[in-house]
Amino acid sequence: MDLNFKVSQLITSEGAWNIDLLRELFVPEDVVRILSFPPSRNVPDALLWAHTKEGVYTVKSGSWLQAQPFPGMSDVSAIQKKVNRLKTCVWKIKTVPKIRMFLWRALSGAVAVAECSIQHGLNVDPICKVCKQDLESISHVLFECEKARQVWDVTCIPIVFGLALGFIEYMEQILECNTIGANYRQAIPWLLWGIWKQWNAKVYAGNTGDKDILIAHALEESEQWYKANEEEEVHKSQGLVANGGGEKKWSRPPRDILKCNIHASWLNSNSRCGGAWIVRDNRGDVMFHARDAFVPTSNRIAAELRCLIWAMKSVLDLRVTCVEFWTENLSVF
Ligand SMILES: [Zn+2]
Repeated sequence: MDLNFKVSQLITSEGAWNIDLLRELFVPEDVVRILSFPPSRNVPDALLWAHTKEGVYTVKSGSWLQAQPFPGMSDVSAIQKKVNRLKTCVWKIKTVPKIRMFLWRALSGAVAVAECSIQHGLNVDPICKVCKQDLESISHVLFECEKARQVWDVTCIPIVFGLALGFIEYMEQILECNTIGANYRQAIPWLLWGIWKQWNAKVYAGNTGDKDILIAHALEESEQWYKANEEEEVHKSQGLVANGGGEKKWSRPPRDILKCNIHASWLNSNSRCGGAWIVRDNRGDVMFHARDAFVPTSNRIAAELRCLIWAMKSVLDLRVTCVEFWTENLSVF
């Protein structure tokens, strides 16, 4: 819209309305209204305030206008609220920082797909460079494009696909998905990352990746991350903070009694499990602590029991006899 456009420019040199220009600039109803009165050639153009009868600005009318909702504003803010909520969630996703950053950039529209490039004013082909069938958006690349669909199908992660769904809706689905096995659920961030890398490899290097290798990589990397992270959580417990669903405060044992907290890290029946224990006195001062790895056990409770027996033997070897044993896994007792 040309803000310096004047009414006089709508009048021809013969003194009549320029009908073609009116039709170009106004909706048909307004064209009819304008044509209902003759143009005034001798009245100079002036600025008029549209919200009073006299066309003169008043503070009252200005305040009234400011209080009116901007058309479409409520929808925009609802979507923005969703995006902001997801952006906050992204930083808490259990994965490596580079994947969290990637997801945050995807939610911010800052990834190299045609849709984002066009929004930033670049004149590029909007069609997906891999399948050449749909618009190239981040939701298409990570969920809808042929290769991505194959990954989600094989992993049986339940995703509802639809033309009206955007990246936010897809992300909400996978972040709230709790009907699949823990190994696949934990691997979701690595699957998204793998799909993104595979799509780029196809676009920029012509490499057609294998979905099975992609999935195996994602499972392996997420498993390793969880393993390393759980060990770190055990380590953190020495600082009186046990992680896992919020901070849990260490409570003091009775005076003259020591407290031994134990924790076992168990991933699956094929992997070695880890264990750690720490003995503290009534003031919270650390007396002894140790960590070790054990041969694979059939389940988490067996791992926790093995860790408990090891901790009891160790503490006995240290000639500590008056001690309580605590574990977060209540099933053990
Ligand atoms: Zn595609």
